Amino acid sequence: MDSKVFYITTPIYYVNDIPHIGHAYTTTACDAIARYKRMKGYEVKFLTGTDEHGQKIQTAAEAKGISPQELVDRIHLKFRELCTLLNASNDDFIRTTEERHIKTVQAIFAKLIEQGDIYKGTYSGYYCIPDETYVPESSMGPNKTCPDCGRPLTIMEEESYFFRASKYVPQLIEYYEKHAKAVMPRIRYNEIMSFLKSGVRDQSVSRTTLKWGIPVPGDEKHVIYVWFDALINYASAVGWLDDPEKFAHWWPGVRHMVGKDIIRFHCVIWPLMLIALGVSLPTEVFAHGWWTVDGEKMSKTRGNVVDPFKMVKEYGLDPFRYFLLREVPFGNDGDFSELALVGRINSDLANDLGNLLNRTLQMIRSYRGGIVPSCGEYDSELCTMSANILERVDSAMNEYAFDEALKAVWEFIGRANKFIDETMPWKLAKDESQSARLDFVLLNLYEALRLSALLVAPVMPDTAKRIWTQLGINSAPVETQYDSFKWGNGAGNTIGESEVLFPRIDIEAWKKAKEEKKLQEEAAKATATIEHEPEISIDDFKTVEMRVARITKCEEIPRSKKLYKLEVDLGYEKRTVCSGIKAFFTPDELVGKTVILVTNLKPVKLCGVESNGMILAASVKKDGVSESLTLLKPEDENMPLGSRVS
Ligand SMILES: [Zn+2]
Repeated sequence: MDSKVFYITTPIYYVNDIPHIGHAYTTTACDAIARYKRMKGYEVKFLTGTDEHGQKIQTAAEAKGISPQELVDRIHLKFRELCTLLNASNDDFIRTTEERHIKTVQAIFAKLIEQGDIYKGTYSGYYCIPDETYVPESSMGPNKTCPDCGRPLTIMEEESYFFRASKYVPQLIEYYEKHAKAVMPRIRYNEIMSFLKSGVRDQSVSRTTLKWGIPVPGDEKHVIYVWFDALINYASAVGWLDDPEKFAHWWPGVRHMVGKDIIRFHCVIWPLMLIALGVSLPTEVFAHGWWTVDGEKMSKTRGNVVDPFKMVKEYGLDPFRYFLLREVPFGNDGDFSELALVGRINSDLANDLGNLLNRTLQMIRSYRGGIVPSCGEYDSELCTMSANILERVDSAMNEYAFDEALKAVWEFIGRANKFIDETMPWKLAKDESQSARLDFVLLNLYEALRLSALLVAPVMPDTAKRIWTQLGINSAPVETQYDSFKWGNGAGNTIGESEVLFPRIDIEAWKKAKEEKKLQEEAAKATATIEHEPEISIDDFKTVEMRVARITKCEEIPRSKKLYKLEVDLGYEKRTVCSGIKAFFTPDELVGKTVILVTNLKPVKLCGVESNGMILAASVKKDGVSESLTLLKPEDENMPLGSRVS
């Protein structure tokens, strides 16, 4: 039975992170499904929010000299901004520091203690004393070290409350055996089932070593473990504590969307908590994959974290949303590349969709004075296809297969473009006897566009609206029901003004601009120093190979204000090195100087010249710009070239 209540949640985002493509992905996917379901007549609630407790927040606040509450009040705003940026249609935004949530968590905790499902025991685990955090064995560094700071971990024991998770495992297995869609996609379902069958231990749900969290009711030296706290947000937002009617309305329709890394919390721990509470289990939990960037793992140290704010600014919101949901089968891992995004903008958006709109409106304007003609029958192949596309989109959306839904829509758009080529309206327009045929063609094209806007609306709400505006329709596609669409109803409409939906991006110019920007950044990097670097070990330092060298040639690089192209002699070989020291020396001053060269730096191209090393210099900087600079040299300048510096 298909209940018409749809309650979709993103995970609550941990505020100690900065919003990146992963957050944007989940939020966009939830938004698209929420908008789609609304257009299908569902009553929808879309919840997102922030996870604000835990050691990392406490530590970060201490470092800034402010209270954790002040810190989270400030930084949770970045995630609200992300919602606004993405045009997310969320109905609620919950924070775990809100009263409604804290009270719910405490009430649930108390209830579980009372019924014997939470009990006191001793927790023991590997602990990093300086970081004040337990490290699970699965994420320990080599030789039982802390993955964050590399220091050795110590075994620590403390009193802790435990949730009797083990007790309810058989019930959960039974539920999943009957509800194969409760965990999606299938690969995650299998993963969860085998995990459950291997047994689940009772879970430690409180800490005495942590202060920033929700206190255990009646035993305030304990703070409730952050994951136990966080999961409950889905229930606190719909009135578990004080609005049973509201809860009973929304809860049976609950669906969680998560990244695949947090699936055990959502498909094991959370349902076990719900069983213990006597609450029904989520209808569906969908785990999506991760993004790599240009084929590489995304990480802060690589500096390749995709910033959604930057992407939207550069390419526009709807193309970004479209790309996220079209590029990769939802559930799989995907690769983000700006080049691929530009490719989609040019082919799918500018060429297929944009051209269909342009050509159609132009013809209606020139052949029919801007008024959509009517005709006796609508029974074109397009009209037949439209019913089939709606069905295909629906079954894809029910599986969260956004890419499949969009593929179906683009097949339809492609068919409409082909319909123009086949019917050749420009020929029909020249022949008075073909007037009825021309009406038929134009009306069918107009209807194809009117429907296309509805079909793309969940993923590209603004674009859909812009299409309808150009078609002369005042209402917004996202506020329209799919069921109300009737092929032919657009007859008699007066079209609006035309504008280009998606300007084509000149790939060559785009590549050139990117390359130039990269060079600028590299040049800036080459001349910049950072005040404080993280601590390194002697072994790290030993990996830097430095040797005595002599500058033998110095040339200008015409395109660069800062760089010289130098030839340096290491005794055993000569190399080309680019050095950002032009402002401080003339070429004559440099030739003959003995310097220290880092010899095992990865070669980089700077302003078109490959640089094979770096000359060491000391400088005084102001606002990132060197005010004075001097080159390092060995005290005895007659040291043999190539001598190792250590
Ligand atoms: Zn540590």
